Amino acid sequence: MSVLRLGYVHVRVTDLEQAKRHYGYTMGLYPTYEEPGRMFYKGWDEWDHHSVVLEEGGVGLVKLGYKVSSADDLDGYEKRAEQFGCTVSRMSAGDNPEVSDGVRVVLPNTQTLELYHDMTVIGTEVGTHNPECFPRHLVGVGAPRIDHALITADDPAATERFFTDVLDFFVTERVRTSLDDDAETIASWITTGNSAHDIAVLKGPEGKLHHFAFELKDWNEILRAGDLFAMDDVPIDVGPTRHGITRGTTIYFFDPAGNRNEVFAGGYVAMRDRPCITWTPEQLAKGIFYHARELNDRFTSVLT
Ligand code: FE
Repeated sequence: MSVLRLGYVHVRVTDLEQAKRHYGYTMGLYPTYEEPGRMFYKGWDEWDHHSVVLEEGGVGLVKLGYKVSSADDLDGYEKRAEQFGCTVSRMSAGDNPEVSDGVRVVLPNTQTLELYHDMTVIGTEVGTHNPECFPRHLVGVGAPRIDHALITADDPAATERFFTDVLDFFVTERVRTSLDDDAETIASWITTGNSAHDIAVLKGPEGKLHHFAFELKDWNEILRAGDLFAMDDVPIDVGPTRHGITRGTTIYFFDPAGNRNEVFAGGYVAMRDRPCITWTPEQLAKGIFYHARELNDRFTSVLT
């Protein structure tokens, strides 16, 4: 029984046509399905039907989908989530286009998480038979895949416990008020595989989205993405720069609705027995932005 990865991010956007230009033309995601008021995309190196769902009307996160390894896992996660005290319901195949049945959980921070075991496979853009390294005619940034999301919670430790106790994720890094055992957790980076985080939780208003991120290969691709954001008048929040936490390189920027996105490259290989890193508040700004060592007001206050 295991959770494989973040499978989809479903967000609201105020204007679907503007959002299509951002996610399709600037980010270079591949449109895979459209229905009235909704648009579905995947990155070029993703094989399942979609990883980003845009829904017209409002702003912010509708839900996150995490893919589990088999249908047999659902019963176990359903029981554990109920025992944890979450509101849990079953979803049917087709509730989300091309997505299997699954379990829908209300997280401790009130956001919705869906566990599903299957999604229609489209295949990567380079295929599996003697593949090229990348598609020749990528558009814009040409993001290969989504990577992680950062959500906010009044009690980050409770949402962290959900991911570790119910879903068997492990914590790679934390910001704590001190090194004392009774210190409060301010933020937590949590993973299920070998990336530094599949989800992160930051202390803040209950149930808000701080950002979701696309993986890029390296620093050169981050810089190139920044150039494309300049060409396309994409509002940049911070970067290009490096995180102390995760060691990844990054740019934060906004979609036309105001949802914060990130392009993220690098970061260490996470292991279950790798000692968890603790950051304390006096070094928090360096942990977030390793070079500037300061946080702008927008970064800490703009949530959707
Ligand atoms: Fe991030």
